[in-house]
Amino acid sequence: MSTYIEGYRKDGTIWIPEFIVSLASEVCIGCGRCFKACTQGVLNLMEEEDEDDDDSRMFMSVVCEGQCIGCKACAAACPKSCFEHAPMEK
Ligand code: SF4
Ligand code: SF4
Repeated sequence: MSTYIEGYRKDGTIWIPEFIVSLASEVCIGCGRCFKACTQGVLNLMEEEDEDDDDSRMFMSVVCEGQCIGCKACAAACPKSCFEHAPMEK
């Protein structure tokens, strides 16, 4: 059986954080909700130029994965289910 990195809630019960694994930037609509939800500076909005029609597309990117505390607030805020999270084995 795997053992995961774990913490404690205020009431003393065990809490197992689920850290960011991936962000499906091709599905992302660039709404920024996850950026506002993340308190750890893990995410940042990027702009991609479309050379064909002078247009651009905004999308979210993982810029500092190691800062993630595994709270999953980003996933809760995302309307497109872009995120994958998982507990981390010790
Ligand atoms: S799980 Fe929490 S800390 Fe990690 S990227 Fe999402 S909102 Fe930020
Ligand atoms: S909440 Fe979801 S759709 Fe919106 S910017 Fe973040 S990853 Fe993209």
